Amino acid sequence: MKNNLVLIGICSDENSSFLRGTAAAPPLIREALFSDASNTTSESGVDFRNNPRIQDVGDRLIANGETAYLGIESHIQEILESGGKPLVLGGDHAISYPVLRAIHHHHGPVNLLHFDAHTDLYNELDGNRYSHACPFARMMEDGLLKRLVQVGIRTLTAHQQEQAARFGVEIHQMQSLVHTPFHPDFDGPLYISFDIDVFDPAFAPGISHYEPGGMSVREALTIIQQISNPIVGADIVEYNPRRDIHNMTAFVAAKLVKEIGSRILLNS
Ligand code: MN
Ligand code: MN
Repeated sequence: MKNNLVLIGICSDENSSFLRGTAAAPPLIREALFSDASNTTSESGVDFRNNPRIQDVGDRLIANGETAYLGIESHIQEILESGGKPLVLGGDHAISYPVLRAIHHHHGPVNLLHFDAHTDLYNELDGNRYSHACPFARMMEDGLLKRLVQVGIRTLTAHQQEQAARFGVEIHQMQSLVHTPFHPDFDGPLYISFDIDVFDPAFAPGISHYEPGGMSVREALTIIQQISNPIVGADIVEYNPRRDIHNMTAFVAAKLVKEIGSRILLNS
């Protein structure tokens, strides 16, 4: 599996705060990826069908409870130990914390580029420190990251601003991207965590938290396509099929699989 891309679905939505449903996403993203409605080649020319550099190890159903949830780390560890680069399909955003624990164990602190409408930096939400609103607070407390850069944010509360200042998080709010496009500029290996709700809900209605005024699909792809660093892994989270219309968000997620996945392969 050395330097190969490894797709894995993590079916977990127990740490979602508002709606459930993201646990059902991974098979629907694959279905869109291989649908006859489109083809399986990325814009950079990488074909995802019968590609010897791409493996799919299927889905992991995560039982309820802290132990089961944190066990996600061992599924990712297995991929990393075989030399693979995980492309993780969520699931809600809570899964990124155990994923990054595995990444840190294997690679040490890496840069993280985080696409989201939300900073997910809450100390806790509704008494849950593992809520999908908290994973980046946990990562920063544990020192898992070299640098955390967030793009597309448009829900910054006073608490989140304090947390960002405390942890030294670099935030590019959606309102500033209109005037100053974001150019990815990192030193060393990078991990990408992609919350689908960074998009304007017009592009991706299959999400739990509608936050109008978001990114277009093309804006996000432009950022991804400019990344020149080696990418150690990525996740695509928060697609909620229960809220989707004509599977249009499944196709957006599948597009991200192709564009992020091919970037991982081409940059290694
Ligand atoms: Mn998120
Ligand atoms: Mn979000």
